Amino acid sequence: MTDVKGKLIVISGPSGVGKGTVLKEYLKNAQNTFLSVSATTRSPREGELDGINYFFVSHDKFESMIENGEIIEHTVYNGNYYGTPKSPLQNAIDNGKNVILEIEVDGCMQVKKVFPDALTIFVMPPTFEELRKRLTNRHTETAEQIENRLSRAKEEIGYKENYDVILINDTIENATKKLDKIINNT
Ligand code: 5GP
Repeated sequence: MTDVKGKLIVISGPSGVGKGTVLKEYLKNAQNTFLSVSATTRSPREGELDGINYFFVSHDKFESMIENGEIIEHTVYNGNYYGTPKSPLQNAIDNGKNVILEIEVDGCMQVKKVFPDALTIFVMPPTFEELRKRLTNRHTETAEQIENRLSRAKEEIGYKENYDVILINDTIENATKKLDKIINNT
């Protein structure tokens, strides 16, 4: 444990907005920063690894994690559970590391209650049409899943005013620079 606690940063934004890509770029040069790995009941996409992208767990396992208080916040998204494991996050913050959570709006509101000082950032697409294009070009979801994600995106965008900062992802390079400035207060 150190006397100086790490910062907690929450990043949300509609599915397909590119927040994962911007974060990956940011983390290449970030010091002392830990990206929280969530637990989920959804199946891995091609190339996703257990313990790296998510902890892929069964429905029963997820529910027992909730019951045992092992999860700080959780939500159901497109029929699957997603949640933030508590102890890795708490350990990192207690050891002075910054922790980034990439979670949706419902989870962010829950985190704000437990950590009122968390810095919350909402990533927006330049336009809604651009979001549709990005989701379609990703080729990882069916047409129905894309429509579900777009309708959830509309709902999520309605929460953007609850965030400390709105970050528009026009290009990865610009958005990464802006994210660095926001997190490091420069
Ligand atoms: P995907 O299936 O595209 O990986 O994630 C779907 C949504 O779930 C994204 O908006 C992502 O940010 C969110 N998400 C991922 N992990 C968590 C989590 O631990 N908690 C919450 N509340 N949302 C999460």
